[in-house]
Amino acid sequence: MIFKALNEWNIFSGDHPFIISGPCGAETREQVLETARLLSQQNVQLFRAGVWKPRTRPDSFEGAGEQALNWLKEVKEQYHFPVIIEVAQPRHVELALKAGIDCFWIGARTTVNPFLIQQLADALKGVDIPVMIKNPVNPDLDLWMGAIERFYKTGINRIAAIHRGFSSYENSTYRNKPNWEIPIELRRRLPGIPLICDPSHICGNTFMLSYVAQFAMDLQYDGLMLESHVNPVEALSDTAQQLMPRELKKLLNNLIIRNPTTENIVELGRLEDLRDQIDELDDQILRSIAERMAVARSIGQYKYRNNITILQPERWEEIIRTRTANGVSQELTHDFILKLYGIIHEESIHQQTQQMNKENKEAKANNFTTP
Ligand code: PEP
Ligand code: MN
Repeated sequence: MIFKALNEWNIFSGDHPFIISGPCGAETREQVLETARLLSQQNVQLFRAGVWKPRTRPDSFEGAGEQALNWLKEVKEQYHFPVIIEVAQPRHVELALKAGIDCFWIGARTTVNPFLIQQLADALKGVDIPVMIKNPVNPDLDLWMGAIERFYKTGINRIAAIHRGFSSYENSTYRNKPNWEIPIELRRRLPGIPLICDPSHICGNTFMLSYVAQFAMDLQYDGLMLESHVNPVEALSDTAQQLMPRELKKLLNNLIIRNPTTENIVELGRLEDLRDQIDELDDQILRSIAERMAVARSIGQYKYRNNITILQPERWEEIIRTRTANGVSQELTHDFILKLYGIIHEESIHQQTQQMNKENKEAKANNFTTP
């Protein structure tokens, strides 16, 4: 798939990073116009506002609906500010196109549903409009890619992906966990796709926004979507995560935009040396893991011959305790060691099981052939 880079989209001149901002929801004409006026004086390229809001529970504010399209028309006329809204039904698409909305985003709760995505893509057949597709609420890369592919197949090639984090049932400091490996893999699979980070929905608060925004910039994201409201404490949705326009300005001014690489030959040489060290260490890690798995297979053979179970809870408990202590004493985090040993142990069990099955099969074959 060949995507158009953001700076080739014809609704705005390319700037790095590309900033989308505006309130979570369009609430009143005054709120929309005043927020847009303040943001139009900043380095913001696209004004966002949810006209129809997908809410988790009923009886919450669901956006001002169709009337808000007129307010956004005014934003365009008065401030020459392109606008983006969320569309979740073919009817939204139809009304928004009539109102001259410049760009659409697909919400996380819509991306999960291929039927709906197909209906939206069909509604856009033959229309040349940019579409930004948020990740699905669940951490499923194929579902995200599927939605992108459905729009692409209808002829839309100004497509960007918005990373807004993934919901999880575990306690987390984030409202939606970032799972950075998923957007990184998306970009590997779809090279060239513009990638936008939405720190507002990842954090769910304002105090972690700059950390997440900076992190995204350091991963070479192309832009940011940040919610901003003239009066966040009175906002009718997502109160805790919206910034006042002047707070947004400060956040953007404090961002450090680094280069993808350096031209300095000496510095490039230093990086190469460091990467050689990493390559060597990775080689050692893989050799150690392979050796560890070979030992696990011998244990599988031993357990088969002595007829004992694969999982030994006390041994596993001891591994976790000693490895986390060891790791922490070497400046690795407890969490990281838990994750690392989780997958090593799972693979170890898998290898032992395979070994046991193999032994079993061989024993049966031998019994069969023995007269
Ligand atoms: C939003 O951008 O306000 C929104 C509802 O986003 P999401 O689909 O990421 O929850
Ligand atoms: Mn929101």
